[in-house]
Amino acid sequence: MLNSTTSHHTERQALRVNPAKTCQPIGAMYAALGIHNCLPHSHGSQGCCAYHRSHLTRHFKEPVMATTSSFTEGASVFGGLANMTQALTNIFSIYQPDVVAVHTTCLSEVIGDDLPMMFKKFREDGKLPPGKHLIHANTPSFQGSHITGFANMTTAMVRYLCEKSGEVCDRFNLLPGYLDPADMREVKRLAAGIGARFVMFPDTSDVLDGPQTGRFQMYPQGGATVEEIRSAGDGFATLALGFWASEPAAKELEHKCEVPYELVELPIGLGATDAFVDAVRRLAATEVPGEIERERGQLIDLMSDMSQYLHEKRVAVFGDPDHVIPLVRFLVELGMRPVHVVTGTPGKAFETNVRQLLGPAGAAAKVRAGEDLLSLHQWIKAEPVDLLIGNTYGKYIARAEDNLPFVRFGFPILDRVAHRLFPTVGYRGAMRLVAGITDALLDKKDRECPEEFFELVQ
Ligand code: SF4
Repeated sequence: MLNSTTSHHTERQALRVNPAKTCQPIGAMYAALGIHNCLPHSHGSQGCCAYHRSHLTRHFKEPVMATTSSFTEGASVFGGLANMTQALTNIFSIYQPDVVAVHTTCLSEVIGDDLPMMFKKFREDGKLPPGKHLIHANTPSFQGSHITGFANMTTAMVRYLCEKSGEVCDRFNLLPGYLDPADMREVKRLAAGIGARFVMFPDTSDVLDGPQTGRFQMYPQGGATVEEIRSAGDGFATLALGFWASEPAAKELEHKCEVPYELVELPIGLGATDAFVDAVRRLAATEVPGEIERERGQLIDLMSDMSQYLHEKRVAVFGDPDHVIPLVRFLVELGMRPVHVVTGTPGKAFETNVRQLLGPAGAAAKVRAGEDLLSLHQWIKAEPVDLLIGNTYGKYIARAEDNLPFVRFGFPILDRVAHRLFPTVGYRGAMRLVAGITDALLDKKDRECPEEFFELVQ
């Protein structure tokens, strides 16, 4: 427990305590699950793969299939070629995926394993069955975070699978960024509702939010097919959601297949969803339908109804940069005051973006990329807040701070269940966020206010 945290904060360069991020391979594994009939493969020791699978399973409450090169001392000294060859042979003969998406781990990176060379040898030895694909991403965990791992694997999909046939089609490509399956589904619903024709990858809806059928499926029905990803090279444009998770793949697609791209924030909150809807409308050359305008109107109605409870409330926010930036935008739209803003993923653009959103009124806010939760807790101790928003690990801070109102948001959420089923993106998702934030503040008031302020109707 964190009851001993003090308000005294010292700058640390060489030590992170309770990091606000996790391993690169977790993001790479998650992205790979968004390809239909794909088996993620971890090139390293069994422990890494077991941790990455269990972390995803704990968040999504679904089984996560992945294989490992199963390094022991021998592979660590002599390299992982033999392990990789044996693993791929077994995978294709036993599990028969269309794609094996290999990511590295700290160990295989440190010893310098050359995955393209291993794939080449596997192919030249005639061991790769016809019609099957191997892709890889380098994901050392001593750099970046799960977000950069996701970005690296999405970029690998472009590098290995996308092709330009020479005929531009009437579809654009949608790169959804690091979103839960329900959010990916909502992004597709909005884009389809506007009348857009698009290919989205990776797509984990119907992979990690499936129904209980009583039957185990090694490869669930969802995910973008290899054919769909290949056809992205013929798209007339790419709409990339999220600078950190999606821009590298969009850039690669532009470089490889000359598909121009547009970058917008994840559609979290009012302004960011407006920007997404407008971008889709322009690309689809159509109008926003009344149904989506109505959802927007409902959100604005809710925001104005709840403003009396939210106005000027001080908020601490932490999470992944692509999530936190539009969330800060939304908190400002709600009249709230984000005063401590942290992401564990490194990147100078984070601070610049958040400071722009906060403007002169938020000049005193603490905003930091590559920071940890100990610093965030110390800042909260020194300058208290009314609300904390972040992933599951925030509950330790909330408990230590006299049960500070806490809204779970982002990745991972290990101690609650419904997040993978209900979106937080789009206008509907924003309504859900407003409800969650307001409930957390009012629950605290109901628990602690004097009897004369304890009201039935708020
Ligand atoms: S930090 Fe490195 S060694 Fe540890 S689980 Fe992640 S990839 Fe494996």
